[in-house]
Amino acid sequence: MAGNNTPLADELSATAKLRAELAEAVFPKPKQPTVIAVANQKGGVGKTTTTVNLAVALAKGGLNVLVVDLDPQGNCSTALGVEHHSGISSTYEVLIGENSLAEVLVDCAESENLKVCPATIDLSGAELDLSAQQRREFVLKEALDVYLAVNPETHVVLIDCPPSLGLLTINAFAASDQVLVPIQAEYYALEGLGMLLNTVNKIRDYLNPQLHIGTILLTMFDKRTNLASEVGKEIFQYFPQELIGTAIPRSVKLSEAPSFGTSIFGHDPRGIAALSYQKAALELANRLAKA
Ligand code: ATP
Ligand code: MG
Repeated sequence: MAGNNTPLADELSATAKLRAELAEAVFPKPKQPTVIAVANQKGGVGKTTTTVNLAVALAKGGLNVLVVDLDPQGNCSTALGVEHHSGISSTYEVLIGENSLAEVLVDCAESENLKVCPATIDLSGAELDLSAQQRREFVLKEALDVYLAVNPETHVVLIDCPPSLGLLTINAFAASDQVLVPIQAEYYALEGLGMLLNTVNKIRDYLNPQLHIGTILLTMFDKRTNLASEVGKEIFQYFPQELIGTAIPRSVKLSEAPSFGTSIFGHDPRGIAALSYQKAALELANRLAKA
């Protein structure tokens, strides 16, 4: 029909097609728990948004998911709608050995398969407390090992890291099977990725022989700009296995959702941002099930 091939019409039909495809999708379950650190030393690249929305997408797909908020900003706890005021039992109490992980976990209202270890502002003092502890790099790993031994039906643990490579992030790296790196497609993205790769290599040499960059996800992607496409192509050239085939578009809905204490699946479940995170989560689940 005439007029049907405008860019908007094309986009709407692509969204409708993706929605139909995902409605039929079956999320495979990994055979053993996989612990994933969501990290990038660059601030504001979409670590928390990615942790939250991948976690909810995987949980809605039927996987048992645990999110550990390891950032004193507590943005991940806010977005998942869990309480995280100072004084409640949280990641901080786990790291100083006052509580076990199981004791501080709370249910997330968005899915019965999703549990959250909340972060409070108290976590900002944790690096100092940890620095005096023995085996200070392994505190989170030991807490997770205890939890996963009792709860082996957990499929995925996602750790939302702060934007620095201090002891908190090092604890996440020591505890993880792989690093998931959200990347904003911009000029300095590859430089930042190179720095992260160096850090991961050092951690592998000294603390955790299995750690590797396992997954890369392009965030805030604007396919209309040449720069985003060029950066995407370049990352694919260096990391063809790791790069997830679906980029997350820039979307106002994604930035609004946390203020309602919900993921994109609570805020705009039919929009392209939710569908993109769902598709990225499906690809991740497929990869983990094959590993
Ligand atoms: P920090 O380093 O401070 O922890 P971060 O890497 O966790 O930041 P986010 O908090 O997820 O990054 O995102 C930074 C800002 O960008 C937030 O305001 C978030 O709502 C917004 N944002 C994230 N992803 C998108 C997107 N795809 N489209 C539009 N806005 C986004
Ligand atoms: Mg964050």
